[in-house]
Amino acid sequence: MPNCRPCRAPRTRGGRFAVIDPATGEAFDDSPDQQPDELDGVVGRAHEAWQSWRTDPVARATALLAAADAVEAAGRGLAPLLTREQGKPLAESYAEIAGTAARLRYFAEPAPEPRPITDGRPVRGEIRWRPLGPVAAIVPWSFPLQLASAKIAPALAAGNTVVLKPSPFTPLATRLLASVVSAALPEDVLTVVTGREPLGARLASHPGIRHVTFTGSVPTGRAVAEGAAASLARVTLELGGNDAAILLDDVDVERVAERLFWAAFRNCGQVCTAVKRVYAPARLCSSVAEALAQYAKSDGGRAVSGGHRLDRLGYFFAPTILADVPSDSPAVTEEQFGPVLPVLPYGSLDEAVEAANDTCYGLGGSVWGTDLDRAEAVADRLECGTVWINHHAEPSLAQPFAGVKESGAGVAGGPWGLYGNLRPFVVHRPQEA
Ligand code: NAD
Repeated sequence: MPNCRPCRAPRTRGGRFAVIDPATGEAFDDSPDQQPDELDGVVGRAHEAWQSWRTDPVARATALLAAADAVEAAGRGLAPLLTREQGKPLAESYAEIAGTAARLRYFAEPAPEPRPITDGRPVRGEIRWRPLGPVAAIVPWSFPLQLASAKIAPALAAGNTVVLKPSPFTPLATRLLASVVSAALPEDVLTVVTGREPLGARLASHPGIRHVTFTGSVPTGRAVAEGAAASLARVTLELGGNDAAILLDDVDVERVAERLFWAAFRNCGQVCTAVKRVYAPARLCSSVAEALAQYAKSDGGRAVSGGHRLDRLGYFFAPTILADVPSDSPAVTEEQFGPVLPVLPYGSLDEAVEAANDTCYGLGGSVWGTDLDRAEAVADRLECGTVWINHHAEPSLAQPFAGVKESGAGVAGGPWGLYGNLRPFVVHRPQEA
């Protein structure tokens, strides 16, 4: 599958920007290049729509269920479009659409009931959860639909309205998704804006936005937080990762190799929680690299070697397993976000844990071995938001999803994702005699 996005901004013509097929490197369609001055109207209409959308939680849950069904029914239109602009194989596009519908369905629950509180005084207190207002959802190109739904679903379920901004690399499937979902919603409850920067920056700092929920890189996340500081809007940031997988000395290399390979190379390695570094006991290191290379070779990758672009149209890079890489190499210390996986040796487990944690990132991690209790004891020492044993990058819809260090701020996913879109409103009244 193609990867390696062009670094330059998309070309524009007649108020529209070109959308590139990464399999050919050619423009195949375009999308409106909306300007920041349009945001006042968009956010204003989202605020108007919020006045009635916020009032009926049961209607909201019903609408989300209808939207989930509609997304599934639209899969045959969405999947090829997603593949064309994003580059992932068609089967992965269908899987993403299933994940998109699953998120809409998961959050199709009425908002939390009011909850009594007491500290022993003769006062009756009650927490009532209130929506925030218009939410800005800004998403990257790696999983444009699934990540959009992960933001839209809890925000809408909580009673907010949403202005969604996809990456300019993947605007088309997102616009189609939004038209499918919007058919189940009142007007202006969900709006998509497409365009080049500074559209995202201006959306994040717009005074009418009450929550900015952002997924993307660490530098952009920082800029978003700075922008939102102007209006002190709530900010949720889901940022990059450099997940380590630690293989223990009792690991069955042949048995785990295929799962480990796909944990690193699914979506062409362009997954925030992909395995991006493998630490193996020194005596197993070359057999681990060789076992992983079995799965890379069919597409031209070589074990124990650097990578190269494939000599063909489009943005293709050979899947690459790297060995003998210095631990301070950028392939180890930075998020590669591509089909490259360094395999590094360790002497003691303490060394492995220290190396895994020696990063500014803290999204996910994993430990692989036969003795599950021992693996779990090592997992417990990793500084990250989610850790898996003998698999990786398969979060649950019901879990809190939160990176530590520079991998994020705030919590998405599960009930925490819903509460991230609500504010507590507390009413106190005297106890009746
Ligand atoms: P990016 O930061 O370049 O862009 C993300 C979004 O922000 C895009 O819509 C982009 O147009 C927009 N944007 C760009 N500049 C902006 C600004 N100044 N203000 C507001 N918005 C702006 O990221 P990307 O290259 O699209 O995505 C890859 C990154 O996303 C990787 O670091 C990856 O790990 C991360 N990611 C994280 C998660 C997670 O859940 N933690 C999931 C997927 C991807």
